[in-house]
Amino acid sequence: MPSVPTTPSAPAVATVTGPDACPWCERPARDAVRTGVRRVRCRACGVQITWPWPDAAELDDAYATWYRPEGGRFSGPGDAIFALTRGSIAVRLHRIAPPGLVVDVGSGDGHLLAALARRGRPVLGLERTTDGDVDPTRPDVMDAALEDLERPQDGVAAIVLWHVIEHLPEPREAIRQAVRLLADDGVLLIACPNAGSRQAAAFGDRWLAWDQPRHLVHLHPVALRTGLEAEGLRVRTLGHLRAGQSVFCALHGLVGRVPGAGDLYDAIRRADARQRPLGPLRRAWTALAAALLLPVAAVAALAEAREGRGASIYVEATRPARRPTTETIR
Ligand SMILES: [Zn+2]
Repeated sequence: MPSVPTTPSAPAVATVTGPDACPWCERPARDAVRTGVRRVRCRACGVQITWPWPDAAELDDAYATWYRPEGGRFSGPGDAIFALTRGSIAVRLHRIAPPGLVVDVGSGDGHLLAALARRGRPVLGLERTTDGDVDPTRPDVMDAALEDLERPQDGVAAIVLWHVIEHLPEPREAIRQAVRLLADDGVLLIACPNAGSRQAAAFGDRWLAWDQPRHLVHLHPVALRTGLEAEGLRVRTLGHLRAGQSVFCALHGLVGRVPGAGDLYDAIRRADARQRPLGPLRRAWTALAAALLLPVAAVAALAEAREGRGASIYVEATRPARRPTTETIR
């Protein structure tokens, strides 16, 4: 296992471990530079890596039932808002993708699948389970990864990695698998946190979207574009606001600085979906702080997005048509 250069105050490196190669650019990670309590930056591509890399037991614990309980994650209108935003993504994807199957990797609550199916799209959701126990009421969801799928004769019309790629131990391999499966002009849709955002810099280790240990790689727009193009994809759109979460992450960071306020992410979740218990008074104070700071968070999120340093990255990439080899002869 490679070691990481340490600052004089850092602990001994013997217990600090991670993958031998950067999960994004796949060059050696041994001289990565520490950037946070649990992150290093690859010198080659600038992508940050969760370090130490979590083991299976830590990940199992981190994805325990509180993360997505059966009754829904959010209290009040949270889950409904979630469904609504997925609907707007479905409208756009249905418009830009060629006809055919859409595969949603990490389909979760199934809101995107449902919104696409309502438009007559054939859909397939991929969702990993720890026990292979897929919901029997969802024949459109499989416990599988992209690499397990056989390519349909005409390819897949679109593949969605919506706030998923940062969870994958081998994100680059997932891109290759998407390229393998996609039809000519098929669309790869990606949304993920932007480690190069203003928020990431402003809130440091407390930024919500590091979400460690669940997030393993922390991309920035240049590295994402470079990697996709290196795999033969054409990046059509790279933006920020459509990827969502920008305003909420800003608000979470701001509320975190209010004395006495609790964790906003926990405060909006149902009681059984919280990481830590939150008393009613403290929850009310947290909600009040959030309501007062919401306009500030919204303005800040818009400003950083306009500057190209939004909290999330949104990418539409296409797989160029495979041309018959005779066409390459001039
Ligand atoms: Zn790298």
